[in-house]
Amino acid sequence: MPSLESFKRLSKEQAVARVREIKAELGRDLVILGHHYMGDDVIEFADFRGDSLQLAQEASRIAEARYIVFCGVHFMAETADILRQPGQVVVIPDKRAGCLLADMAETPEVRNAWKSLTGLWGNDITPITYVNSTASLKAFCGRNNGIVCTSSNAAEVCRWALQRTKHVLFFPDANLGTNTALSMGIPRQQIMTWDPSRPLGGNPDIDQARFVVWRGFCYVHSHFTPEHVAAIRAKYEGIRIVVHPECSPEVVALSDANGSTSYIIRAVEQAPAGARLAIGTECNLVYRLAAEHPDKLIVPLVDSYCVSMARINLYNLLRSLESIVAGRPVEVVTVSDEIKAEALIALQNMLRLSMPPKSAS
Ligand code: SF4
Repeated sequence: MPSLESFKRLSKEQAVARVREIKAELGRDLVILGHHYMGDDVIEFADFRGDSLQLAQEASRIAEARYIVFCGVHFMAETADILRQPGQVVVIPDKRAGCLLADMAETPEVRNAWKSLTGLWGNDITPITYVNSTASLKAFCGRNNGIVCTSSNAAEVCRWALQRTKHVLFFPDANLGTNTALSMGIPRQQIMTWDPSRPLGGNPDIDQARFVVWRGFCYVHSHFTPEHVAAIRAKYEGIRIVVHPECSPEVVALSDANGSTSYIIRAVEQAPAGARLAIGTECNLVYRLAAEHPDKLIVPLVDSYCVSMARINLYNLLRSLESIVAGRPVEVVTVSDEIKAEALIALQNMLRLSMPPKSAS
C-alpha cells in the first residue's frame, strides 16, 4: 500500500474523484459512517451521518456491507466492531484518532473505585459508562450488570439504573453525569465527583452519595465558560444559547437549552427564519449548520475544535478505501472476542432502551 504521503500529493479534486470512483466500485459492499464533528471534506462521503447513539444504532443494523469505514474517533469504531455482523470488517482512517475524554478512565482505576464502592454499598450500585470509553470499560459494565449511555439517552439510562439500584457510578465524564443527575432532580449534595488518584475518590463522606461521577472531562466542551455566555448575550440581543451537556453545569445553567448533538441539530432546524442561536459544541458542526441555514444567525458560543476528530481527513479516508480495494485493509479495528461478548451486554442494555420501535408493516 502506498504511503499516506503519496496520497497527499494528489490534488483535492483528484482525491475526491478517486473516493467517488471507489465508492461506486464497492457499491453495497461498503458503508461509510460519519460523525457530525467530521470536517466537510469527509462528511460529504458518509452514507450515514449521526451522533454516537445514531452511529451505534446504524452499525448494529448494517447487514449487507462487508466493510464499514468509520469516520469518527477510535471508541466509536470499537463500538461498531462490537455490534457488527460476523464477517464484516471495521476500518478507521487513522487509528490515532482517540478521545482524550475516553482516556481519562482506565480500567484498573475503575476496578479500584468499584471495589471501594461495592465495599460500601454491596450490589446496590450500577456502573454506567458514557459511550466515550474504551471497549474494556464497556465490558466492565456488561460484567457488572451495567449499561452504556450516550448524551442522547443519559437521563433514560440513569433512570433505568436507579430503578434497579440506589447508587450509580458514572464514568468518565463528570459534566455529563452531573448535568444528567441535576436534570433528574437529584440534589447536589448526593452527587459526588470521584478522583481516582485519592483514597475514597477524595470524598471522606462518600457514603452520603447516590450519584458518583468520574473526574473526566471533554476539553472541547469544558472550554466554554460563563464569561463566554455573558459575552455572546451582550453581543447579540435576544440570542438563544444551546449547549451540549458535556459543558460545565455552570454553563448549562446559564444556557437556554442543552442536549446531544442530534438535539442541537433539531433545535437549529426547528428555529424559525430570522432566529439567532449561539451553539456550545464542536465548531465543525456549528459552521456546517450556519452554512445550511443561511436564513438564521448561527454562531459558536466561541470556537472550539476537536483535534482527535480532525485526524480523519480526505487523504487517510482515500488510503483506507484503496487498501480495501487492494484486498488488504489497513487500520482495521478489532475488539477481542472476550471483551466483545461482555461489552455487547452493556451496549444491548442501552440499545433496548433507545431503539426506535419498528414500524408496523
Ligand atoms: S469532542 Fe470531546 S468527547 Fe468528542 S471525541 Fe473530541 S475529545 Fe472526545
